This record gives sequence, structure tokens and C-alpha cells, in this order.
Amino acid sequence: MSTENLRIAVQKSGRLSEDSLKLFKECGIKFESGGSKLRSVSSNFPIEFLFLRDDDIPGYVEDGVADLGVIGQNVLMENSRKVDIVKELGFSKCRLSLAIPRNETYTDLTYFAGKNIATSYPNLTNQFLLANGVKAQTHEISGSVEIAPSIGLAEGICDIVSTGGTLLSNGLKEVAEVFKSQAVLISNANLSQTKKDLLAKLLFRIDSVQRAQNAKYVVLNAKKENLERIISLLPGIKSPSVVPLATEGWVSLHSVISENDFWEIIESLREAGAEGILVLPIEKMIL
Ligand code: ATP
Ligand code: ZN
Repeated sequence: MSTENLRIAVQKSGRLSEDSLKLFKECGIKFESGGSKLRSVSSNFPIEFLFLRDDDIPGYVEDGVADLGVIGQNVLMENSRKVDIVKELGFSKCRLSLAIPRNETYTDLTYFAGKNIATSYPNLTNQFLLANGVKAQTHEISGSVEIAPSIGLAEGICDIVSTGGTLLSNGLKEVAEVFKSQAVLISNANLSQTKKDLLAKLLFRIDSVQRAQNAKYVVLNAKKENLERIISLLPGIKSPSVVPLATEGWVSLHSVISENDFWEIIESLREAGAEGILVLPIEKMIL
């Protein structure tokens, strides 16, 4: 048996860390994390974790110091490294947006013509301005971008937004979205066959976890005569399990459906005679 380990770089502490660690733990991979640990070898999967600053991760993966990494698309696109994006992970969702002082009147992107924009993402910002035919000046600063307008450094900013709370508390308003981002799993472009096989195993587990996150196990009771109508309301169900209940003429229906679908049809289910509806989380879903 080969002793080759996959090496994966994750953010040591920040907005990617918690969900990254959670994902791998849900994949059944055991490892130690937290504290001052910079490296951790799993006890039950041939994988080794490196805990790093997020900005260093794409470079390490490109160079092969790490085989895989978890990184925000925003950081990846800003630095355009030669790595493969193997999976969108669905967490750390945010957007890169242009913002201006709240009391300014905004019409459209021409507002920014000839103005100064402070940002930690000069490449993405310049690409966006260029694509929209706006000539503005970007000033790269590495942090606390939101205070740039109030100290007279720039007239606008281009920064990461999720709820908009930070903008608001700095007297700014969001006026245009430049880039939508989420966490992605990246891979070195030249993995050995052994590592490719390990990555395939890891992806299989990630898929099972992701599928389960949106799916719910639904149990409901109904009179036999209402069963057909109830099944017709449940989207995408081929053949639910139907279990007889001790009460004559009643059955229990068990099925798996997407949570989004469920909330849309709950009223019609009840009208169709569904009772005692239980919605349960699913931990893993293997197809
Ligand atoms: P480090 O110390 O590792 O360099 P950092 O300060 O650069 O960390 P964080 O603020 O932890 O980075 O953000 C990491 C990534 O999380 C960002 O690049 C972005 O993709 C995403 N992110 C940033 N802000 C938010 C937010 N408010 N909500 C969700 N995701 C966010
Ligand atoms: Zn960073």
C-alpha cells in the first residue's frame, strides 16, 4: 500500500476556517485542529492538513507544496494562479462590490469616471471597470478599506460585502456588484495518480455531505384515500415508502425531498389531508 498522503491547505483562522473544518469532519475525516497547530495528520484518511493564511493558499497549491486548498474565489481570481477548481463548496458566500458615501447621489457606473477607488482587489476592480468602459484610478490598500472615503484617500471603495453592515456603519452604500464569491476546493494541476484517486474518494464524500444538506427526510400520516393526491404534490418522488399504521385505513408516508420544495407545498399537503408531518435532517446521502 502506498504511503502517499494528500496535503490540503486550509485557512488557519478567519471566515473560511470553521466551515472548512466542519466539511472535512462531516466527511468522516478525523484530525486535530485549533490552538497553535500548523499541521495535522488525519488518523483515519491519508490526508494531512496545513493551517495557513488564506492569501498564501493558491500559491502553495500552484507550486505543489499543498495538493489541495480551500480558498475564496475572490482571492483566487484576484491573483490568477494556475490551479484547478474542483468543487464549489457553498460556504463563505460574499460579493465584491463598489460602494460610495451614503449621501452621494448615484446614477450608474459613469459615477466612477475619473475618481479614486480604494480596494484590496485592484485586478478584479480594474477588469470590471475596463469591461464597463469606465476610466477610474484604483488604489491598493491591504485592509480597513471602508475608512478610505472618510479620510480623503478615495471617493469610493471596492470591497467584500456580505450583509452590508460594515458599509452602513462606515457611512457607505453599495452601488454595484463586481464579483460573486464562495469557497472553492482547488487542486494542483499535476497530481500523481495515487493522489488523484484519493481526491476522487474525498469528492465522493463531499458530494454525499452536500446532497444531504439540502435534502430532508419527510414522514407524514394520511388516510389511504388521500395518498395518491399527496404523492402527486411531492415533487420528484418516484416511489415513497408507504407503511400501514395500526389505525385502520391510515398509512405513514416516508420520503426524501428538497427543503426548498417542501416549504412551498406544505399548505397544499395539509389541505390534501397530510397530518403529523415530520421533517428530519439527513446526515449523508449516497446515491
Ligand atoms: P487571513 O488572516 O487568513 O489572511 P483574511 O482577513 O484575509 O484572513 P477573512 O476575513 O477571514 O480573510 O476572509 C476569508 C475569505 O472569506 C474572504 O476572502 C472571502 O472569500 C470570505 N469572506 C470575507 N468576508 C466574508 C463575509 N462577511 N461573509 C462570508 N464570507 C466572507
Ligand atoms: Zn487573507
